Amino acid sequence: MKKLSPTSLLCLGATILPVLASSAAFASGELNVYSARKEALIAPALDAYAKEYRVTVNLVTGNADTLLNRLKIEGDASPADVFITVDAGRLYRAKAAGVLQPFETDTLDEVVPSHLRDREHYWYGLSQRARVIFYNPKKVNKADLSTYEDLADPKWKGQICVRSSSNIYNQSLVASMIEANGEEATLSWLQGFVKNFSRPPFGGDTDLLKAVGAGVCNVTLANTYYYGRLGQSDNPAERKVYDQVSLFWPNQQEGERGAHVNVSGIGMTASATNKRNARRLVEFLTNHESQQWYADVNNEYPVVEGIEPPKSLQPFGEFKADTLSLSALGDNNRLAVELMDKAGWK
Ligand code: FE
Repeated sequence: MKKLSPTSLLCLGATILPVLASSAAFASGELNVYSARKEALIAPALDAYAKEYRVTVNLVTGNADTLLNRLKIEGDASPADVFITVDAGRLYRAKAAGVLQPFETDTLDEVVPSHLRDREHYWYGLSQRARVIFYNPKKVNKADLSTYEDLADPKWKGQICVRSSSNIYNQSLVASMIEANGEEATLSWLQGFVKNFSRPPFGGDTDLLKAVGAGVCNVTLANTYYYGRLGQSDNPAERKVYDQVSLFWPNQQEGERGAHVNVSGIGMTASATNKRNARRLVEFLTNHESQQWYADVNNEYPVVEGIEPPKSLQPFGEFKADTLSLSALGDNNRLAVELMDKAGWK
């Protein structure tokens, strides 16, 4: 099994896992995976792939930005064949940085809906999450909630808490609003929305859900898997937060675009030498069984149609998802950041 340099890995804060080898005697090549998803959220699927195709898989996990930097620094010398990360905005950054290469197969084009993959085939979504409204039902009348746009209404003054504008999830949501409503309308929306903050942005999605549960603020935006995870937690305090907070699907009415969705996804690196294995892995991860498993362990929605969402998400019910091409989130990212800054979203 090929060893990736542990020294440079340590320097860059990534973790190497000496893993997932099928019997070397029968191995038909290898595959090197850089994953911003934690080991437990991807390794079993890679293991199944390694067994099925008799491929030796080496997995490096690390922080998303750290791994992207590593790919940039390594350039053509990078041992990585595929890169797994979350958010179309980040996948776009990898594409823009030149560390990915396009690839397509008939199967992928058929099973991954076109809006959930890169227009130029640089990356494919593996799972979906929605970024939606969460509220405290003791403080907020559900009937007062409607759309993302409505959160700029002065009726929400002092009631909304959010995480920082440096967070890619919020940037991608704003990027989707630019696509839907245009630059000017999005800036004025942001100005109204920021005026409604109860306090300066803080924390991560889970902290915000806890703040809403505790009545620190009444309304927030968070990704569905964080809420699903709280509901599945072994910690009674976290399950209590799940009970104290309610999910609201925005923009669901006739003629509205639906809730903002994003993906975790995968791309083939520009330096890939094991292209055939890389292509097969992406196909493997979009087969029925992998999709079910991957969605279950991550509390996310499958990208492939006709597969049930995990049990943890079923209480959320069905919803209409925005079918905007996620490539647009990358295209609009820079402007989104600029507008958030202009509006004073710290
Ligand atoms: Fe997350």
